[in-house]
Amino acid sequence: ALAVLGSTNMDLVAYVPTAPRRGETVTGSAFRTVPGGKGANQAVAAARAGGAVSMIGAVGADDLGARLRVALTEAGVHTDGLRTAPGASGIAHIVVDDEGGNSIIVVPGANGTVTGLADGDEDRIAAAGALLLQLEIPLAGVLAGARAARRHGVRVILTPAPAQPLPPELLSLTDLLVPNEHEAAALTGRDDPHEAAAELLTLVPEVVVTLGAAGSLYAVRGAPPVVVPARQVRASDTTAAGDTFVGALAVASGEGCAMPEAMAWASAASALSVQREGASASMPYRAEIDALARS
Ligand code: ADP
Repeated sequence: ALAVLGSTNMDLVAYVPTAPRRGETVTGSAFRTVPGGKGANQAVAAARAGGAVSMIGAVGADDLGARLRVALTEAGVHTDGLRTAPGASGIAHIVVDDEGGNSIIVVPGANGTVTGLADGDEDRIAAAGALLLQLEIPLAGVLAGARAARRHGVRVILTPAPAQPLPPELLSLTDLLVPNEHEAAALTGRDDPHEAAAELLTLVPEVVVTLGAAGSLYAVRGAPPVVVPARQVRASDTTAAGDTFVGALAVASGEGCAMPEAMAWASAASALSVQREGASASMPYRAEIDALARS
């Protein structure tokens, strides 16, 4: 079983020819609301990949919050640990222009209330084989989750996104750090992912740097690094590729799969997701991942 402590957002996506400048109004061609947030995305990815997943976090006391909860439940995620906080749900307001460029406003809303654990959360974490963390809730909440995991010997898998300096205590509680190459560079000041991974290994025992279409890099103390190639596919939407990868990686590694093997399976999962539109809507089910991983 897995626990995820993190964000739940509704993505409000408007498609426009050109993004409006200050004072300007433009007419868009389409609008969609899509459940998102890194925490919820990882939870859905792991559940679809066959994991038993408990989501810990908060939605707002609004209709978006109700819809976010339903979306998680429908994906098979346990939401007993998802509180309803007074006020608005977290949203990401996304403007996508004709060239595919985007500008994004994130308003954390209820996610900002997750500054610690609530009733039952410690048990949810203790019952899991691993706790998945990201950085879209307050650091105090992330730390509280990591401390609880450590108390119960639960593996902590941290996605350091959005990139920000990490407090030493959080690093000392992290078993596996999974940055993408930009986050790895931001954390270390080193653009070469191999150098960045080597430096991160002085802080945490295991690192997986995801490299987009170039695959992923595994580094562990005392062994040479391993690069696992990505699947060669035609990508149409790479939104949440990383979250799909981490969710699937956690499922496979929780089932006892060795890391490079788990990464290959996670690569198959994310390769399927990048060929489809949407974030959580694009995430593959276990049978699909197994079929591609065997091919
Ligand atoms: P993030 O979405 O966090 O930026 P990445 O872009 O590194 O993360 O992607 C995570 C994983 O998804 C990669 O390690 C790779 O396995 C897979 N992936 C991403 N982009 C592609 C692509 N264009 N083709 C195939 N696989 C991809």
